[in-house]
Amino acid sequence: MIKACKFGGTSMADGTNFLRVKEIVEGDEARRYIVVSAPGKRYSGDSKVTDLLLSAHEELLKTGRLGASFGRVRERFLHIVLEIGLKIDFGRILDETAQEIEAERSEAFTASRGEYLAGRIMAELLGVPFLDAREVIRFCGDRFDGETTYTILREALKSKKRAVVAGYYGADETGRVRTFSRGGSDVTGAIVARAAGAGLYENWTDVSGFLACDPHIVPSPARIEALSYKELRELSYMGANVMHSESIFPVREAGIPIRICNTFRPEDGGTYILPKPQESEEGRPVTGIAGKKNFTVIFLEKSLMNAEIGFAYRALEVLMRHGISFEHMPSGIDTMSFVIDSEQLKGGALEQIEAEIGAAVRPDRITSFDNIALLAVVGHGIHGNVGTSARLFRAIARAGVNVRMIDQGSSELNIIVGVDNEDYERTVRAVYEEFFK
Ligand code: ASP
Repeated sequence: MIKACKFGGTSMADGTNFLRVKEIVEGDEARRYIVVSAPGKRYSGDSKVTDLLLSAHEELLKTGRLGASFGRVRERFLHIVLEIGLKIDFGRILDETAQEIEAERSEAFTASRGEYLAGRIMAELLGVPFLDAREVIRFCGDRFDGETTYTILREALKSKKRAVVAGYYGADETGRVRTFSRGGSDVTGAIVARAAGAGLYENWTDVSGFLACDPHIVPSPARIEALSYKELRELSYMGANVMHSESIFPVREAGIPIRICNTFRPEDGGTYILPKPQESEEGRPVTGIAGKKNFTVIFLEKSLMNAEIGFAYRALEVLMRHGISFEHMPSGIDTMSFVIDSEQLKGGALEQIEAEIGAAVRPDRITSFDNIALLAVVGHGIHGNVGTSARLFRAIARAGVNVRMIDQGSSELNIIVGVDNEDYERTVRAVYEEFFK
């Protein structure tokens, strides 16, 4: 089996970590294709190389020359090379890079140099070929071009026993460098895994996988050993931020499993993200709990609403006109509510929208309340498992929390509970206790 491995910014932050990565890669022959991020923070308060490069680009635009920020990038890379004892003239490579940045004057090109330089060092350290993403990851305009990329990349990888690929960027049909959005090395890792026909995509980071809930709320919660792509989507959408579900579309399409691993504790089991749900060993119906604060609920009531054709359509049309997206839309026979991230309703937008919905659907009553937190209880085990919601609401009641809203999708993959912001932490603790203790 082939494994594609992506190492994140903290795994590349300094020379010691580069050596750790080498040990991990060489510890398993299957780890053939390595994707690297740019060096991240070494300690809290430190800067990520990508951020320094973005500042370098600003300085270049202002003064016409690279300035102090690029100087810091230079130092970081020279220090890494020194720490790992590589005998290469990296000063020369940095000089060439600086010249290219000044000539190209493109934000994407400048931002991509963190991955490029880190990749060159890693390839040298491992003694394997370096693949510049400019040659093998193709964009069409600013969109990733899968068809062309897979053809080129498959060919480039085929003949190589091992290789390092720089994450985060590629080039369009004219050869101009383009980047994915921030954190985009995850995408490159997934693309490489797919092109290589990998049996596993290992995503190496600085945590030992997904936790069943936020460790700031429950100290040392259980680690999730396995979750499905769908559960990942639910949990990451609701704020669990180890890895974003959007970034793994290439492996999801190909059904390749992912494993989240910790570079600093490789012995930990990590979390597997699998194409299909797996029966939890403990027979738990719930896989994880996530949530977010600060939602506003707009509540509408109108008798005989159920018989009025187009009621929801007219109300939603108002939201669409204002460019507002809603998270949930729980409804009753004569009631309907829209749950919306409060950020979107600032500066008088809420009052305006309420007035327009009022005019569009003439409800008997329209009100809104804010400071609502949403808690998502996620798990394939909820489906067809009699009593899960009873347990959930009993636990919340025992904690003395008033439930403001409930939404259960008919897929039964999650139950969403709305509570007051101030009850959020208490609710998470109570639900965790119920399902994981
Ligand atoms: N270095 C890029 C960033 O910080 C990409 C990545 O690390 O995934 O966003």
